[in-house]
Amino acid sequence: VVPSEQINVTVFDARLAQSPRLQLSLDAELKKAVEHQQFCLLYQPQMDIRDQQIVGAEALLRWQRSENELIAPGAFMSTLESSGLIRPLGEWIMQEALRQQASWAQQGVCLQMGINVSPVQLEQGKILDQLERMVADAGCDRSSVCIEITESLAIKKPLMVAKTLSSIREAGYKVALDDFGIGFSSLEYLLRFSFDILKIDRAFIWNLAQGSKEQAIVRALAPLCQSLGLKTVAEGVETRQQYDLLSSIGVDQVQGYMLSRPVTADAVTELISDFRGL
Ligand code: C2E
Ligand code: CA
Ligand code: CA
Ligand code: CA
Repeated sequence: VVPSEQINVTVFDARLAQSPRLQLSLDAELKKAVEHQQFCLLYQPQMDIRDQQIVGAEALLRWQRSENELIAPGAFMSTLESSGLIRPLGEWIMQEALRQQASWAQQGVCLQMGINVSPVQLEQGKILDQLERMVADAGCDRSSVCIEITESLAIKKPLMVAKTLSSIREAGYKVALDDFGIGFSSLEYLLRFSFDILKIDRAFIWNLAQGSKEQAIVRALAPLCQSLGLKTVAEGVETRQQYDLLSSIGVDQVQGYMLSRPVTADAVTELISDFRGL
């Protein structure tokens, strides 16, 4: 069994919801946390349904606020974005994830590394240069790197983002549309931007019971993605039943607690060496 992460978000979330003064202090605290490098990445494996192999991992940011406080990004991502701190931190995230991808590859573990990128980072137009430099430094394969873009109304420069995304793909990287189906990532995104992978949000996965609307939607999405040339990844797969159904529907890959929670890089290596399919 892979050790699960310790999270202490509940306490923190309550504090955040309060006053603008606390928001201000969160800003300041995060600034210090970036300066003192109090962040780490956990990784969550992704499995290909057809080959029953672990083929990828998504890097997920954690704030190591104190020795026994590891905080998930829901509590602070929007503050990182609004303060602009996500720019320097985002560079570190890419560098660290790419370094890990290369280190696994050296051990013979070839995983596609999923890296979450905020629209704030895309609007700068510098991300491809950064990626190219870091990939060369780390010695990764571009095709083993997948940039995950989340839905967001905050895309202020859609043309710039579209251009950036296609230049990233042209350079040989993969691009995934994250959280598909919720928020603002609608079908229009598939027209406006170009992707390799579509990640079906877990809102559609938790209830796949016979006759559910969720199941009807996922059933329709799979062939739609296939005809658009997109691979599908189901997020938040927690049970064997969900997995079996997704397998029969023809979804390509799964990610979720059924396989593993987000864990340390070493725990991923261990999981893979023990993994013999489902
Ligand atoms: P996401 O990209 O959709 O990441 C998946 C989230 O679902 C993760 O939450 C993961 O822990 C959680 N999850 C995975 N499997 C299951 C499951 O089976 N059941 C349930 N209930 N949840 C599951 P996490 O790590 O708290 O991250 C939240 C969001 O923060 C991410 O959502 C992503 O949008 C953002 N984020 C995380 N790391 C980064 C990063 O390095 N950069 C940026 N820009 N955003 C990040
Ligand atoms: Ca993601
Ligand atoms: Ca997602
Ligand atoms: Ca999300």
